[in-house]
Amino acid sequence: MIVFVGAGPGAEDLITVRGQNYLQEADIIIYAGSLVNPKLLDAKKEDCTVYNSARMTLEEVLEVMVRGEREGKRVVRLHTGDPCLYGAIKEQMDALKQEGISYEICPGVSSFCGAAAALEAEYTLPGISQSVVITRMAGRTPVPERESIRGFAAHQTTMVIFLSTGMLADLSKELTAGGYPGDTPAAIVYKATWPEEKVCRCTIDSLEATAEKEGITKTALIVVGRVLDGEYTRSELYNPAFTTEYRKASKEVKSNE
Ligand code: SAH
Repeated sequence: MIVFVGAGPGAEDLITVRGQNYLQEADIIIYAGSLVNPKLLDAKKEDCTVYNSARMTLEEVLEVMVRGEREGKRVVRLHTGDPCLYGAIKEQMDALKQEGISYEICPGVSSFCGAAAALEAEYTLPGISQSVVITRMAGRTPVPERESIRGFAAHQTTMVIFLSTGMLADLSKELTAGGYPGDTPAAIVYKATWPEEKVCRCTIDSLEATAEKEGITKTALIVVGRVLDGEYTRSELYNPAFTTEYRKASKEVKSNE
């Protein structure tokens, strides 16, 4: 059995209890060395063999997995954040399936959640935005034209943009071309939840200048949207005038609507 484990966004205590248990029991750990905090490996057994996948190809990773499985070893593939986002796990799962090897996925805290915590932000504020678009600029990995930043920006929802710190001038252009005003609040969150975390608040227009001033070139998320401003409508869920499955409304107070 191979387990894909989400390592969380950085801080070593932001892995799940289940993920930590898998790490402690592993005979082999293959971790994404470019982004996973190496301190997480302190949990491993003394005789555990560790591989850094940053220096490996898919074929090499699979070879370690298949050999480990054949030898009856417990193999953990440790991915940054949650493996469902830009994790390249599908190709690993498909290859394991072909080999008849079973696997399991243990979720993790994605960096977009770590960034929200660093910003003290709620991405879904009533009256402002009720959706979050998670996307990226096209790089060496292309993005389908129908998913352009420009197209998403037309909705003016909250956007969290991965893997794009080196393309901020183009990102600002795309966001404004799509309809987001240039003075819309934005933020660059560098290494969310790591000790060296940096939170830089700016606007869409000043994204590139802000990153340059702060010396940020990678390992950052760009958050965009009016949820980073102060205004919103209070929630209905906790409104005294609103009846829910668990609580009856009191008559004296008016509902938002
Ligand atoms: N699966 C991961 C994302 C992997 S893609 C997740 O769920 O978070 C790698 C990109 O994620 C980086 O280029 C950066 O844009 C973002 N990223 C990962 N960890 C980060 C962190 N701690 N702070 C800010 N951005 C981070």
